[in-house]
Amino acid sequence: MQGKAQLSDSNRRIMEVDAPPRRVYQAWKGSNLFFLGGRLIFGPDVRSLVLTVCLIVTPVIFFAAAVCPQLGHEFQSQIGGWVASVAVIFTACILLVLLLTSGRDPGIVPRNAHPPEPEDIGESPDWPGGQHGSTGLPLTRDVLVNGVSVKVKYCHTCMLYRPPRCSHCSICNNCVERFDHHCPWVGQCIGKRNYRFFFMFVSSTTLLCIYVFAFCWVNLKRIMDMHECKIGRALLKSPISGFLILYTFIAVWFVGGLTSFHLYLISTNQTTYENFRYRYDRKTNPYNLGATQNFIDILFSRIPSSKNNFRAKVKEDSATFTTSLSMGRVLSPPKMSVDLEMGTKRQAVAAEDLEDLHSQIGSAMGLERCGTEPPHFVGRKGCSEISSDIEAFAEEFGMERGLSERKKIERRTNDGP
Ligand SMILES: [Zn+2]
Ligand SMILES: [Zn+2]
Repeated sequence: MQGKAQLSDSNRRIMEVDAPPRRVYQAWKGSNLFFLGGRLIFGPDVRSLVLTVCLIVTPVIFFAAAVCPQLGHEFQSQIGGWVASVAVIFTACILLVLLLTSGRDPGIVPRNAHPPEPEDIGESPDWPGGQHGSTGLPLTRDVLVNGVSVKVKYCHTCMLYRPPRCSHCSICNNCVERFDHHCPWVGQCIGKRNYRFFFMFVSSTTLLCIYVFAFCWVNLKRIMDMHECKIGRALLKSPISGFLILYTFIAVWFVGGLTSFHLYLISTNQTTYENFRYRYDRKTNPYNLGATQNFIDILFSRIPSSKNNFRAKVKEDSATFTTSLSMGRVLSPPKMSVDLEMGTKRQAVAAEDLEDLHSQIGSAMGLERCGTEPPHFVGRKGCSEISSDIEAFAEEFGMERGLSERKKIERRTNDGP
């Protein structure tokens, strides 16, 4: 009886330890942040979204609460109410596309648990020529896209050959399909599954700026006509109109410039990454199908469903929960980023360049995995030997800080047991 009681006791203990199975988002290796039980996925810099929302909502509140009533008063009509309603509804739509840009899977390619076998990809481990990693896999492979040969790279962090146009985001630490860039303003990667929402977001924000700018001018003009005064006195009567004109004028250069740039990219079927990294004018762009078809393809084609089910249950596997200390993560710690969009794009591109250089130098010395995946730190000393080359490269891209942090962590890892 006693034995039985003990048994059931230990069983109960086992039952207690046996927690409910974790879900994919809880065991996620990327740097993403999840909300609502894995229903919403954001980048690690999602906090910057609060700033973005404030920068949009605050001027609209001032416009609707201060400028529009004045406009209605000057015109002695309901126009103020209408103008305010349109601005508020339009802002709500902008916030919705912002959420669709930020809160969904941008096109993450799920990681492999193990590197593919050379035989699986039709390669011999001792394939002559080309660069091979410590896995025995070639670092790049050639894939035909619309009759043009395109190089695809092996991602050591995700342990897969990236599909064409896919790139590893150094901030989110994931491979993202049709990677455009990581946008710090929306706190998410822009990729295959959210590019159109991102474009809708920047273009509609441009329209909102123009709308507010125009009606603030109408208000000032009306004040000048009514009181037969000059712009100075009108501005004194409605200083908020003046402030909003200045604010939207500055903002429209930024969002309008970005909209124009993306209109150019869409018309030529390029991504920001491709545009910054290599220019297609020196070689054929296999994705360019002509302006009209490019617009249809990018903005109106069916969005592929996500390759990740963040809420699916995963089997308990200690390897799944190891924190990945990837290079990208160290280079770009999660922080409130207020960098200019372009600056961050350069940084994201530079991080990728650095990764390439690192893998190239590493591969030449048979060390291509060091720094990318801690569990496979082959020849750590080699890493410090090549660090001066990487430092020189990093300096060019203004990434010294990230590197020195990384070196510190590497040193700590080396000193460890
Ligand atoms: Zn990757
Ligand atoms: Zn990202």
